Amino acid sequence: MPQSPDITSDFLVIGGGIAGLSFALKAAAIGSVAVLAKAGSADANTSYAQGGIASVWSVDDSFESHVEDTLRAGAGLCNRAAVEAIVRDGPEVVRELIRLGTRFTRVTEGNEHEYDLGREGGHSHRRVLHAQDLTGQEIMRALWEAVRTTPNIRFYDEHLAIDLLIENRSRPDARCWGSYALDRRSGAIRKFRARFTLLATGGAGKVYLYTTNPDIASGDGVAMAYRAGVPIGNMEFYQFHPTCLYHPEAKSFLISEALRGEGAILKLPGGEPFMKRYSPDAELAPRDIVARAIDSEMKRLGLDCVYLDLSHRGADFIRRRFPNIYTRCASLGIDITREPIPVVPAAHYMCGGVVTDLSARTALPGLYAAGEVAMTGLHGANRLASNSLLEAAVMARRAFIDVAERMAARSAAAPPSFPDWNPGRAIRSDERVLVTQSWDEIRRLMWNYVGIVRTDRRLERARRRLALLREEIHSYYWDHLIDSDLVELRNLVVVAELIVRSAIYRKSSRGLHYNLDHLESDDERWLHDTIIRD
Ligand SMILES: Cc1cc2nc3c(=O)[nH]c(=O)nc-3n(C[C@H](O)[C@H](O)[C@H](O)COP(=O)(O)OP(=O)(O)OC[C@H]3O[C@@H](n4cnc5c(N)ncnc54)[C@H](O)[C@@H]3O)c2cc1C
Repeated sequence: MPQSPDITSDFLVIGGGIAGLSFALKAAAIGSVAVLAKAGSADANTSYAQGGIASVWSVDDSFESHVEDTLRAGAGLCNRAAVEAIVRDGPEVVRELIRLGTRFTRVTEGNEHEYDLGREGGHSHRRVLHAQDLTGQEIMRALWEAVRTTPNIRFYDEHLAIDLLIENRSRPDARCWGSYALDRRSGAIRKFRARFTLLATGGAGKVYLYTTNPDIASGDGVAMAYRAGVPIGNMEFYQFHPTCLYHPEAKSFLISEALRGEGAILKLPGGEPFMKRYSPDAELAPRDIVARAIDSEMKRLGLDCVYLDLSHRGADFIRRRFPNIYTRCASLGIDITREPIPVVPAAHYMCGGVVTDLSARTALPGLYAAGEVAMTGLHGANRLASNSLLEAAVMARRAFIDVAERMAARSAAAPPSFPDWNPGRAIRSDERVLVTQSWDEIRRLMWNYVGIVRTDRRLERARRRLALLREEIHSYYWDHLIDSDLVELRNLVVVAELIVRSAIYRKSSRGLHYNLDHLESDDERWLHDTIIRD
C-alpha cells in the first residue's frame, strides 16, 4: 500500500461542514490549518439544512425563552450550563456568519433591513434565521468563499480519516496528535500530524436504512474517538425527522419542519388530520412526538406514507417561501400548491456523540470535537429544531478560543513522529459482496429493531446480530487492504453497537428513546446521561 510524506500543521480539522470550516477560518489567523473531507467540498449535512439557524434575534424574544424551549425539548437531560452558554453565544455567531457574507432572507414588506424569522416546532418565538429554504447551502457558500481566500488553510478533499494518532495510548498521559487518512484518489495512506485536532465529522444517519443524511454520515468521528478511549454519550437519542419525501425517485429529500411552522397539516390518505389526537400542539409538537404519531398511524392502518398539506397557504406564498421544496416536488410531478406531499419519517440527527466540555475539549488532550459529532449537553434527550447549526458554530468558536490560549501560552509542543500505516499481510479484497451485505444488514436491522419505537426483545436481537457482524467485519478489515467502504463499514458497526448498548442500558422512555417495555420516564433512576467508554 503506497505511503506519502507526512503533512504537518498547527491544526488538523477532520470535516468540512459548518463546524470544521468555522473553526478553520478562525484558526488560520494564528497557525497553519489542514482540513480533511472524505468526499467533495459540498458533501456535508450542513449543505442540506433547510429550516435555518435558531438564535435570539427579535426584541420580543429573550435568552430565557430560548433556554426554556431547549430544556423542554431535551426532556430533563440537557446540561443547563451548556444550554445557557450556547444560546447566549448565538447572536454573535450569527453576526459572524453575516459578516462572512451569508445572505439570510430579509423581511421584504415593511422593513427590508430586518431578517425574516421563521418559527419551528417547539420554539415559542420566531427565531430561526434562514436563507429561503436553502440555509445550509448559503452558509456553505459563504464559508467556502472565505476558505478559498485564506492562505493558511489547505483543504484535502477525498481524504478519509481512519484513526487518530495517539501518543502513549492507554496511559494517563495519552495525547492526540492528528490522524491517519486514506487519500481516496491514490489509495495512499498519509499521516496528518498537528498540535491540535478537531473532530467535525457530522452525524451517523447512514446507520439507518432511511435517512435524510447524505452518504458521508457514517459516524466516523464517534467510532474513531471511541477506539481512542474517549467517552461517548447518549447515543440512544437518535432523532427521526417526521417528514421525508416519500417517492421512489427521491433519495432522502427532507420536507422541512418550517412547513408545519407555516401551517401545513398532516393528513391520512382520506384527508383526515390526526395530530390533535397525539398532542394539543398538533403539527407544532416536538419532532419525536410527530414522528411517533406518523409511525403509529402508518402501523395502525398499514400505510406506506401519510400526507402533509400546505396548499391552503396559496401558490404565491409557497413558491416564495419554499422554492427549493416546491421545485423538487414539481420535478417529481407533485404540485405542492394544489396537493398534499407524501411523507415518511427518516433518521435525521444524532443527539449523542463524543463527550466534550464547553470549550469543545474531549477527555483526550489535543482532541476537540464540535458539531453533530459532539455531545455538549445542549440537546439532552431531544434536539430542538435549528439548534444544531447554532451549536456547531458556537462550539467551533469556543474550541478556537481554547486553542488560541494554548498557542499563546506555547503549551503544545510540535507533534512527535509516528510509524507509517502498517498493512500487515493484508491482501486486495476480491469479494465486495461481503462488504455490501454487511452494510445492508446493519442498516436494515437498525431500522427494524432500533428505530422510532423500541422493545427489549428487538434491542436484544439487534445486539446479538451486531456482535456477530462486528466479528466478521473486524477480521475482514485486518485481512484486506482498506478502502473507504471498508473503513466506513468498520465505523458503522461501532456506532450501531453504541446506539444499541445505550438503548438497552436505558430502561425507561425519555425524549427520543421510546421503549414499549419501559414507558415511564422514572426521573428518580434515569435522569442522567448514558456514557460508554472503550
Ligand atoms: C436534510 C437536513 C436538514 C437539516 N436542517 C437543519 C436546519 O434547518 N437547522 C439546523 O440547525 N440543523 C439542520 N440539520 C442538521 C445540521 O445540518 C447538521 O447537524 C450540521 O450541519 C452538522 O454540521 P457539522 O459541521 O457537524 O457536520 P457536517 O456538515 O455533516 O460535515 C461533516 C464533514 O465531515 C467530513 N467527514 C466525515 N467523516 C470523515 C472522515 N472519516 N474523514 C474525513 N472527513 C470526514 C464530511 O466529508 C463533511 O465534510 C439538517 C440536517 C439534514 C441532513
